Amino acid sequence: MTHIVVLGSTNMDLVTYVARAPQRGETVTGREFRTIPGGKGANQAMAAARAGATVSLIGAVGNDAYGVRLRDNLEHSGVDTDFLRTVEGPSGTAHIVVDDEGNNAIVVVPGANGTVDHLSPGDEGLIASADALLLQLEVPLPAVIAGAEAARRHGVRTVLTPSPAQPLPEELLSVTDVLVPNEYEAVTLTGRTDPLDAAVGLLDLVPEVVLTLGEAGVLYVSRDTEPLAVPAHQVAAIDSTGAGDTFAGAYAVAVAEEKPLREALSWAAAAAALSVQREGASASMPYRPEIEAQYT
Ligand code: ATP
Repeated sequence: MTHIVVLGSTNMDLVTYVARAPQRGETVTGREFRTIPGGKGANQAMAAARAGATVSLIGAVGNDAYGVRLRDNLEHSGVDTDFLRTVEGPSGTAHIVVDDEGNNAIVVVPGANGTVDHLSPGDEGLIASADALLLQLEVPLPAVIAGAEAARRHGVRTVLTPSPAQPLPEELLSVTDVLVPNEYEAVTLTGRTDPLDAAVGLLDLVPEVVLTLGEAGVLYVSRDTEPLAVPAHQVAAIDSTGAGDTFAGAYAVAVAEEKPLREALSWAAAAAALSVQREGASASMPYRPEIEAQYT
């Protein structure tokens, strides 16, 4: 079985559904409130575990009730949480207001994720044993860089989702093998609006780019090969939340299993296509048999 390590965030999403978001100083009555496990690190870990890999998550939760639930939720999907520390203070939270038109406003409070600013004892050994390291930008940059550098020292491939979008320091780019941006992130990083132009522009920064384009599919470019476009699977989408994380987690598994490139991309796109047909982020992520059925 392939072994994927994820270094990243774990959040509880506190989601309020309301007809209309309040103006400044106004109080409104909401319709519904849900707590939904999230955070890009946890989401990608769950996606990779459900896609069939052995997955360990490096990160932190707080010593509050959310921390217990976040850990349980990961373990329930088969994610190893031995390297997910429990630290003093609150877990990370994302406070999300969704109105009837589907617009949202979000405040993220990093909480325990903010303590993940370095590698802890044991983390490097874990990374060394992995087939791939998955990274995002929701924990402090020093830890992301230290994780990627550790992976490089041990010949482990690094796959970075550059979210939230921000300029990437050379220290991180120099140890990133594959960048998996969405369209917004690719445009932000390059200033180019055409997807192919943006993807090719990113090759100045890293050797391989997998640009996800929502229902338009995926565009793969590398310094060594011709660009390859893989269409999205045609499905009736109802909620695209977490599609990008599902794709990244499944893609890492496919690459670690050494599936040929086109198959790896289409297989991960099949996982993401399944996730958009169901509500929620982590809850919508498919298990391997469903991916195999969608892919063939
Ligand atoms: P999110 O932020 O919603 O998690 P994202 O913006 O990071 O997603 P997208 O590019 O929207 O990522 O989607 C990732 C992949 O999911 C796409 O490349 C595609 O394969 C698949 N996907 C997304 N939307 C659809 C859709 N409507 N139908 C089929 N596949 C989809």
